Amino acid sequence: MTYISNKGGVDLHTHTTASDGLLTPAELIKFAKKKSLNAIAITDHDTTEGYAETLENTKDNNNFFIIPGIELNSQFKDEEIHVLGYFIDIENTHLQSILSEMRDSRVTRAKKIVKNLVRIYNFDISYDEVLEKAKKGAISRSHIARVLYDKGKVRNVSEAFNRYLGPKCPAYVERYRLDPKEAIELIKEAGGVAVLAHPGLLNDSSLINIYIKEGIDGIEVYHSKHTDEQTQSFEKIARKKNLIITGGSDCHGDLLNGIPIVGDVRVDTSVVGKLKELSLKRKSEF
Ligand code: AMP
Ligand code: MN
Ligand code: MN
Ligand code: MN
Repeated sequence: MTYISNKGGVDLHTHTTASDGLLTPAELIKFAKKKSLNAIAITDHDTTEGYAETLENTKDNNNFFIIPGIELNSQFKDEEIHVLGYFIDIENTHLQSILSEMRDSRVTRAKKIVKNLVRIYNFDISYDEVLEKAKKGAISRSHIARVLYDKGKVRNVSEAFNRYLGPKCPAYVERYRLDPKEAIELIKEAGGVAVLAHPGLLNDSSLINIYIKEGIDGIEVYHSKHTDEQTQSFEKIARKKNLIITGGSDCHGDLLNGIPIVGDVRVDTSVVGKLKELSLKRKSEF
């Protein structure tokens, strides 16, 4: 049922310039079509603007389907846990008001982190330079990492996170806090389907059980950073608990052999029907 191949299928995890992706929605879709995907979900952090932009340019999307999505960050104890939402109603006022609050808090946080980097390391960087990277998108540590890279402070973005931007680094500033239940409920209330993102990136994989208990609908079994072992173990859990199995590349515009990784992880298009069906059921209930 679920497979990874290079023809057809759907990539259920992508980012655009509306958050910390490097490709505009139009560019992302162009590459997705080139890679013969049938569909993608746009799952930007804390914003649906990327998806909204695609609605304005749907004329030549014949047979290519775009799913409205979101990636929310929640927190349990010290661990960051990401939750994906699919087929959310992007006009849901409660959802949009929380998203807007989250984006505002990203601004305050980024300013504080930049201040810390200047104070602690004497770096010659400014918030305006970070803003220039983010353009109008939801600002994130990724944008700060890119500025540090441009200025030659790190050899790559990963090093920026390890040395300066990670939660254990002195310049780190806490983010907007949503607990697991809040993140899941927010998505469900907006008629969406809540999926636990990349559980393989958790330090403590037993946290999956907390999300199952709080009502997660699915697990992102397939992800570009999951090992084969992890994939098998998450698939087992999902089947046992009767959860929807999803997967995606988590493409941020990064390149592999000169091409963005969109579509490098994909699942069968039938998963879209499952997500849609549950979302329709939910929308009729609220
Ligand atoms: P933020 O939402 O501002 O906390 O930034 C988190 C984003 O930074 C994630 O969505 C990832 O895209 C990116 N990120 C986090 N950790 C790393 C890392 N170690 N290397 C590269 N990118 C990372
Ligand atoms: Mn990201
Ligand atoms: Mn994530
Ligand atoms: Mn992501």
